[in-house]
Amino acid sequence: MAVIEIKNVAKTFGAYTALHDINLTIQDQEFMVLLGASGCGKTTLLRIIAGLETATTGEVWIGGRRVDHLPPKDRGIAMVFQNYAVFPHLTVFENIGFGLRMQKLPNDEVKRRVERTAGLMHIDQLLKRYSGELSGGQRQRVAVARALAMEPDVILMDEPLSNLDALLRMEMRAELKGVLAESNTTAIYVTHDQVEAMSMADRISVMHKGEIVQAATPLEVYRNPAAEFVAGFIGNPPMNFLPATPKGAGKWAVGGQVIDGPQKNKALNFAIRPEDLRLADSGLTARAKVVEPLGAHLLVTCDIDGALFRAVLDSDMTVKPGDTLTLAPQPDRVRWFDPDTTRAVA
Ligand code: ATP
Repeated sequence: MAVIEIKNVAKTFGAYTALHDINLTIQDQEFMVLLGASGCGKTTLLRIIAGLETATTGEVWIGGRRVDHLPPKDRGIAMVFQNYAVFPHLTVFENIGFGLRMQKLPNDEVKRRVERTAGLMHIDQLLKRYSGELSGGQRQRVAVARALAMEPDVILMDEPLSNLDALLRMEMRAELKGVLAESNTTAIYVTHDQVEAMSMADRISVMHKGEIVQAATPLEVYRNPAAEFVAGFIGNPPMNFLPATPKGAGKWAVGGQVIDGPQKNKALNFAIRPEDLRLADSGLTARAKVVEPLGAHLLVTCDIDGALFRAVLDSDMTVKPGDTLTLAPQPDRVRWFDPDTTRAVA
């Protein structure tokens, strides 16, 4: 059982606070993604779990054991980093078996594990090749195979697919997810790519300025973002916001319309995803500014009372810049945020 518990972890570098009081539990065999923009603290958190960095305060527990005073090698983890250190002068076999040789495992056990993990990563036909002769994608697989060969309870990965081209990335993310599910490993995966996060994670921890803003399933962060930051970060294009004025009895003035909303007596932000709008006879009145035919959809960038607003419409709609559109939000997809706290209103 490799539950990972991060308890009140904070990290400062001089006067700069990179992590504020992080609390997070990753369940046994869970695939947790740490997602956030550059500089939000993802790598620092991963390095603290790995033991490559020391937390200023707080504790790290793995499998019911406190590990934050242990060196990385005693934590039962394997790591794959962005600049995966595959040794070019060693063969693929020797690279994958490297950690196992360090552990002084018998030759037949090294062979068994190398062949098994090479098979999982579809590089078994490359075992005799020198790693320096491989493509970037093949080297990436070697790095992952080497980590899996350790049969770790926990695998930590920091942007492991970042050096691959878009198509290979897409292939590898599906493969990696499948392989990790088969190997019963608890995984923490750092990325700034929301598509990668959505497609691979059991849960995503969305990080912003050294804090975890929301930790939830991909569908939950997409449908029910806990804060405006999450609503804007997840989804492409991001969620739309409009200021809403209370009219009493749960009625709200939004974009020239009166619509139903929560029973609150202060200004809120109304929010809707661009894909949860359709053209209708009544709804928000928007002026189309830019129309982009994207093949599967039509992306229309509009203006509502001076606010930028986007709608993803059927590709066979005819919309021109300058048209006045009536956009009906799908009622069960409307969300409300408090502009003072930027948090979702329950
Ligand atoms: P990226 O996606 O760019 O790698 P990240 O979310 O992983 O970003 P971190 O590398 O964790 O971010 O860095 C978080 C913050 O802490 C950044 O502002 C960074 O400059 C700072 N930081 C990280 N390591 C150090 C260090 N050794 N000394 C000083 N500041 C640091």
